[in-house]
Amino acid sequence: MRLHVIGCSGSFAGPESAASSYLLEHVDENGRTWRVLIDLGSGAFGALQRVIDPIDIDAVVISHLHPDHFLDLTGLEVFRAYHERTDLPILPIHAPADLPDRLCAVMNRRSTVPDGVTDSPFSYQSITDGASWSIGPLRFEARTVLHPVEAYAFRITDGDRTLVYSGDSDACPQLDELASGADLYLCEAGYIEGRDDRFTGVHLTGKRAGESARAAAVQRLLLTHVPAWTDPQIPLREARSVYDGPIELAAAGAHYDI
Ligand SMILES: [Zn+2]
Ligand SMILES: [Zn+2]
Repeated sequence: MRLHVIGCSGSFAGPESAASSYLLEHVDENGRTWRVLIDLGSGAFGALQRVIDPIDIDAVVISHLHPDHFLDLTGLEVFRAYHERTDLPILPIHAPADLPDRLCAVMNRRSTVPDGVTDSPFSYQSITDGASWSIGPLRFEARTVLHPVEAYAFRITDGDRTLVYSGDSDACPQLDELASGADLYLCEAGYIEGRDDRFTGVHLTGKRAGESARAAAVQRLLLTHVPAWTDPQIPLREARSVYDGPIELAAAGAHYDI
């Protein structure tokens, strides 16, 4: 599997990166490349087009309905609904159940069908705690994690290697369980110790991400969701103080082979 970081800026788009979005690619045994987009936050639809043509996405998976994780679906909807090619398949979107209503609210309309076309370009599949599903050769498993809204982390495997994405979460046992033994643990570190102690149940710090990586005995930790106002070396140092394995900071435009 190859993970492209489309955007990794925490909570809002920053000067160096869009908000959260990741593209997972995997070539199956027949040589077909599967492309799954995981989150599409503020500003990410533009950056996505530097990496692929959005025609080529097979499915979308959304961790939760905060704007920095789903808002640019508005752009993807316009792209798929009004594209000159009228034979594009309906795109499956796995997301919390409220997503269609939330998109309608943003677009100020009652229907999931965009104005002037006959069908929604998206088909919506609701995620629930413990749910699992397949997208081509990729198997997804979701667990509810600790965040102020319904939010999921994902364990994704091609049958050989495993990627775990925390979504947005504070420390919780279900996240550590889900991440157990992952080859790559893409884990948020939105907060830093001390500065953000007055908020609980929202985000991990670098230290708490490192503790989760240690508890789950993952092979490799990739820190993400660091906001533009945070020096990323701080969460990196925090994680290094508690986790001995390899750690990197996610960077927009970079890719990681799993
Ligand atoms: Zn977020
Ligand atoms: Zn969030």
